[in-house]
Amino acid sequence: MPTISNHMPTAELQALDAAHHMHPFTAGNELAEKGARVITGASGVTLTDSQGNRILDAMAGLWCVNIGYGRDELAEVAARQMRELPFYNTFFQTTHVPAIALANELASLAPGDLNHVFFAGSGSEANDTNIRMVRTYWALKGQPSKSIIISRKNGYHGSTVGSASLGGMSAMHAQGGLPIADVHHINQPYWWAEGGGTDPAEFGLARARELEEAILTLGEDRVAAFIAEPVQGAGGVIIPPATYWPEIQRICDKYEILLIADEVICGFGRTGNWFGSQTLGIRPDIMTVAKGLSSGYQPIGASIVSDTVAKVIGSDEFNHGYTYSGHPVACAVALENLRILQDEDIIGHVRNVAAPYLKTAWATLADHPLVGEARTLGLMGAIALTPDKDSRAAFAAEEGTVGLICRERCFANNLIMRHVGDRMIIAPPLVIQPDEIDTLIARATVALDECHAELKKRDLLRSAS
Ligand SMILES: *Cc1c(COP(=O)(O)O)cnc(C)c1O
Repeated sequence: MPTISNHMPTAELQALDAAHHMHPFTAGNELAEKGARVITGASGVTLTDSQGNRILDAMAGLWCVNIGYGRDELAEVAARQMRELPFYNTFFQTTHVPAIALANELASLAPGDLNHVFFAGSGSEANDTNIRMVRTYWALKGQPSKSIIISRKNGYHGSTVGSASLGGMSAMHAQGGLPIADVHHINQPYWWAEGGGTDPAEFGLARARELEEAILTLGEDRVAAFIAEPVQGAGGVIIPPATYWPEIQRICDKYEILLIADEVICGFGRTGNWFGSQTLGIRPDIMTVAKGLSSGYQPIGASIVSDTVAKVIGSDEFNHGYTYSGHPVACAVALENLRILQDEDIIGHVRNVAAPYLKTAWATLADHPLVGEARTLGLMGAIALTPDKDSRAAFAAEEGTVGLICRERCFANNLIMRHVGDRMIIAPPLVIQPDEIDTLIARATVALDECHAELKKRDLLRSAS
């Protein structure tokens, strides 16, 4: 086997990558021409690439490295677990200590009566579990016609066929024959772009009431569950108006629709509490978790399920599971991650230090001529780019053109900020410190200035009519 290592020239690594590695969510041929960025190491909130750049990772990888990079404790735990028991399954009436311990810990951290854990290898898999679990729940209760799951346009729930069907990403539905049957999408609570002349409170209620309208149209006897992210992440860090979630909760209670909170991003401290459901006042029947559960150090996800749902599901054989459900190494690493979050009071740091500091610093970006709104919740933030703040107009150029230019300027300034259409978003590691937030804002400001100059030069500062 030839040795491929960090010591090879970047161009050589890029050529080998292009020859054999197919990237997710990427136009492969275009990337092959350009060459992928090669990340070689990371510590705290900072990545290093093959050319020696030190890059502030304001996305915590993919929203997951909550405790930051380079925590040796997790490596030690993984090595110890691999030596003791590298794998055993949890099928066929067997279990092992890491799965027992992590399920118990999650039950104690999760709010309310969410006391039962079904493990998966990722957030997508956990949401596939949820599809089968809620439909099976109603079937076991003698109501098999209750099979429709309502979700939202521009929601993100994963990339498997099932979870991408729950998601409302039109580009994903356009490939591969999605969505599956019995998934219904309602509109998102995105006031800035879709609220028109309404005020946010009124708009939040109207968007929540689309759930009630859908239940009445489809029939109460047909609807199994509603799934949503407390705050949409991949859709562009869309923070709902305060009126939205209480109304959703009221509707789910009234019609006895199971509520699934997809906490894959919001869970484990992102919003300043353990779960986004606590920050937004939601009482879910099932929570989906992944990402921050292990801070991304191992692939793992789970469905955390209420006493009521678990009791019904437990009344028959649930014909579902993954080889790696409750993988011992992933469970051991997740447990160590949860220990660090607690022992170092990282969620207290988010709530009392980092989030308030970011909120104030981020708000200053609203003064930039390109920025129409600048909002944060906990350690998630977004700015909406616009050619005209007053009318909240979109650009005349195809959506995402400007966002991509801005992202390129961020990369050029050693800042990882992601674009979703023409929104720029961040979700840094939870351990970020105020001086690092200052660096983030300074680099973002330079990137916005450079983006603005480029838009002027290319005559892109025009509004869609
Ligand atoms: C990332 C994400 C998922 C999918 O998780 P994977 O581990 O990528 O499968 C599901 N839901 C939300 C809200 C996510 O952000």
